[in-house]
Amino acid sequence: MLNIALFGPPGAGKGTQSEFLIKEYNLFYISTGDILRNELANETKLGLEAKNIIASGGLVSDEIIVQIIEKTIINNPFSNGFLFDGFPRTYIQAYILEGLMIKLNTSLNCLISLEVEEEESVTRLLNRGKTSGRMDDNETVIRNRLKEYYDKTLPVLQFYKDKGVLREVNGNQIIEKVTVDIKDVIREELKNSLFNVVLFGYPGSGRGTQGKALAEKFGLEYVATGNMLDEEIKKGSEIGEKIQEIYDNGLLVSDEIVVQLIEKKLEESKDVKGFIFKGFPRTLVQSYILDGLLKKHGSFISQVIEIEVPTLDLISRLDARRKTDDKRPYDSETSKIVQRLADHQDKTVPVIEKYNEQHGVKKIDGRGTFEDVFDLISNEIKSGMQNMR
Ligand code: AMP
Repeated sequence: MLNIALFGPPGAGKGTQSEFLIKEYNLFYISTGDILRNELANETKLGLEAKNIIASGGLVSDEIIVQIIEKTIINNPFSNGFLFDGFPRTYIQAYILEGLMIKLNTSLNCLISLEVEEEESVTRLLNRGKTSGRMDDNETVIRNRLKEYYDKTLPVLQFYKDKGVLREVNGNQIIEKVTVDIKDVIREELKNSLFNVVLFGYPGSGRGTQGKALAEKFGLEYVATGNMLDEEIKKGSEIGEKIQEIYDNGLLVSDEIVVQLIEKKLEESKDVKGFIFKGFPRTLVQSYILDGLLKKHGSFISQVIEIEVPTLDLISRLDARRKTDDKRPYDSETSKIVQRLADHQDKTVPVIEKYNEQHGVKKIDGRGTFEDVFDLISNEIKSGMQNMR
């Protein structure tokens, strides 16, 4: 996961920069100010409690903040990461954030502090006040919000400085320049994280051949559950015998078996730049498992790619393959091929749809030659990596 907190006085540009960051890095945005304003608009108990404090420019109690933050985080546990805006604002909230991150088995990558001079903040907020409709964008309240910031919020910086995750950015510059500087900070941050690709496609779409070659080209570890299962069969292990039986019936191997193999692979793969997953996740349950496994390694899915090939082409490719030495144990009969295509349709397509909502799936036309398709996917991965680094 990539978890970032944007820090700075009111008017520093946290909201403006957040718009770019959530899109670019696919983060879940948590602005305590926005949540409170929403509670207020809906006249909830929480909103009404906070109303007068917000109107005067004071800080809402840590008790209220912990409730709204916890609720939001727990409702969105599978995002790529969180972007916090306006939180933590007190020393206590810094500890609250630590606790929440631990609960999610992750940590805050960095706190980016947008440094802006006090008078610049006032000018910006007064300007915003002309159109924002916010009750706290008037000079008296603005001065009070800034006083609260300098008294109670600024000391929080020391907490993150001590932890070594404070990153300072000059927020007095034009918006675009601030964005560039923030991106540089995050690029540094991501240098140490893994780049993980999930490669989808119907059986016969070429995902195996492509996956292997792509892994080699980009220095990623290729994780193909099918191959891992075949190896177990070849080894004649106990698990292998079970797998052979499942294949003979044209069924999917149980999640327990697959998870064990993947977990072992992730544990064993030290010093890698990332992974290409092929043939996993195949079901919604497995997609949750992958999220969990990656999270355990402090990581997340960076890119999802689907190779698209028309059904008739798939059938003729698979039928041709079963007559060659390259045939797989599950290619042996037409009925099994059909079963596998149907399984993909029923069980894996919903996973792709889910990922499409979460990450945006890149669709690749898989009808061309190996090289054509390889180039198309390579370009996607290259740009994915560039965006990340
Ligand atoms: P913002 O939109 O971040 O400027 O927040 C607007 C107002 O909401 C602040 O002036 C506070 O009254 C309240 N607020 C927002 N976030 C917090 C927080 N983390 N702790 C305390 N009060 C907050």
